[in-house]
Amino acid sequence: MSVSYPNVQLLIANNWVDAASGKHIDVRNPATGQVIGTVAHAGIADLDLALAAAQKGFEVWRDTSVYERAAVMRRAAALLRERVEEIASVLTQENGKPLAEARVEINAGADIIDWFADEGRRVYGRIVPGRNVAAQQMVIKEPVGPVAAFTPWNFPVNQIVRKIGAALATGCSFLCKAPEETPASPAALLRCFVDAGIPAGVVGLVFGDPAEISSYVIAHPVIRKVTFTGSTVVGKQLAALAGQHMKRATMELGGHAPVIIAEDADVALAVKAAGAAKFRNAGQVCISPTRFLVHSSLVGEFNQAFVQYAQSLKLGDGLAEGTSLGPLANPRRVTAMQQVVADARQRGAEILTGGERVGETGNFFAPTLIANLETDADLFNQEPFGPIAGIRAFDRLEEAIAEANRLPYGLAAYAFTRSFKNVQLLSSRVETGMLWINQPATPSAELPFGGIKDSGYGTEGGPEALEAYLNTKAVSVVGI
Ligand code: NAD
Repeated sequence: MSVSYPNVQLLIANNWVDAASGKHIDVRNPATGQVIGTVAHAGIADLDLALAAAQKGFEVWRDTSVYERAAVMRRAAALLRERVEEIASVLTQENGKPLAEARVEINAGADIIDWFADEGRRVYGRIVPGRNVAAQQMVIKEPVGPVAAFTPWNFPVNQIVRKIGAALATGCSFLCKAPEETPASPAALLRCFVDAGIPAGVVGLVFGDPAEISSYVIAHPVIRKVTFTGSTVVGKQLAALAGQHMKRATMELGGHAPVIIAEDADVALAVKAAGAAKFRNAGQVCISPTRFLVHSSLVGEFNQAFVQYAQSLKLGDGLAEGTSLGPLANPRRVTAMQQVVADARQRGAEILTGGERVGETGNFFAPTLIANLETDADLFNQEPFGPIAGIRAFDRLEEAIAEANRLPYGLAAYAFTRSFKNVQLLSSRVETGMLWINQPATPSAELPFGGIKDSGYGTEGGPEALEAYLNTKAVSVVGI
């Protein structure tokens, strides 16, 4: 396994280039705190070139047959699979997640690209019977145009894949501002498309100052659609900007996923399934379970088993054999974890396990479970985005549902129950974009992926994901 790390450049018109200014940003390994490479810092001159390329790329790609588009996308997916070891190594070095998780992310990414490649062939219009029999009325679907994407560092490959898959399948070009903290795996992903023969300008990649890039690019007339994954605070700013310039937008934002463990739940299954989901990527996942609501008759048994699960995790450098929990991706997440724990302690909550930073080097934080929390504790209100879960007991399922719905978020939710009646109640009453019952999260390309309320709008899976990149045109023709 190679542990080298590249200096990352911008991708403009299928050329890998430094910023015109020569500026760059350091990239650090979160397991060691060491600088491992650099990424080019684009300025306005670079963005202008990237936008012009995206416009040219769009004009070529929208006129490329869906069969040819699918072929290029499938070749890119195949290259991604071939290069999994090399890309997993850089992904782990820049993000911290265990290598096994990095491999899963990359292979899942290839699967998602394949699915969108195929689904793009099933974007149909329709013929609508007219009031005038001499008229033919057609509904035509067209690509919305060049897309600006803003993606975060928690799944550096997959957060792009969910956007690029739908954009390319529908004939849009795609300009991505990927995360400065984890730039090499996004660059490796886009390299697969270039090597697969995608025409120049169809995909582009920039890095720099996120606010400068988003305010320039979203307002730019070339861009017709904006897609963002990140925090609710930033999402609302970008959605407002998109609205001001009348650009279509998809917002995949924060969550605070409840896990409802009903009186008749299988506790061992709940611990295994929700535990795996909780500590994946050190909890830095928008659908990570965060508020565990456990029936009071099961809470003792659940807490004991969950503590055992958390203590069995092996914290370490993601590149090291056997690591099951890596460091947090950046030092500000460690500070955020410390604040959440301090607030819980001050309120007299019980720290069942963890609660501390581990070591002086790297951003390691122990898997942490906190019980007997009041609902006004920080942990039950702010998305923790780290390896921390809060636990509260409930007596009636309706109470748990009310707590699940109390927050403005509505991204993911989980439940464990053996009763069909409970399943029906939960399915209809929990305000969420995604609900997993008796299982861990299984987001797949064919299912919608997205939230409601403050968790955003639009979806990044299933046929609905393609619709977000399409314009609908009505054409009515009377033969003469
Ligand atoms: P942040 O809000 O500063 O940044 C989140 C992402 O948005 C980053 O990738 C950042 O580069 C980008 N960003 C920030 N300001 C931007 C702007 N003006 N224009 C364009 N992009 C911008 O938060 P952070 O400290 O990096 O991450 C912590 C929080 O972000 C978490 O609490 C979580 O809510 C959220 N987050 C969510 C996801 C997700 O999958 N939904 C992923 C990463 C982060």
